[in-house]
Amino acid sequence: MTITARCHCGRTVMEVDGELPEKLTRCTCSLCSKRGHLFAYYRPDQFTVRQADSDAAYRWRSKQVANHFCSACGCDTYADSPAFDKDGSWDGKTRRIALNARLIDDFEAADWPVAVIDGKNLW
Ligand SMILES: [Zn+2]
Repeated sequence: MTITARCHCGRTVMEVDGELPEKLTRCTCSLCSKRGHLFAYYRPDQFTVRQADSDAAYRWRSKQVANHFCSACGCDTYADSPAFDKDGSWDGKTRRIALNARLIDDFEAADWPVAVIDGKNLW
């Protein structure tokens, strides 16, 4: 299936070739806990940015994660990050897309099952 997601103003439009995950992910790190997004994870080859007229990215600490957002309406859109294992290790090349599931069309992320990752202590 094709999943589409867009920011509030519509300047950012994203598509995923894949399914909704069984669970969304809520991360407890200092950034995610402030932003409040729920992530749906995908491989980079499943993910396409169709439009990104006001895209900006925020990077902190390691600078390895690009936290994209719409600079016009302020919505978090997606994060392009290393595909970390649960212990925080990384093979040095595999990436992961964390789509903000709250932006998915016709989908209520708050009603979906959620898994919590302990980003507060992992990074
Ligand atoms: Zn926007």
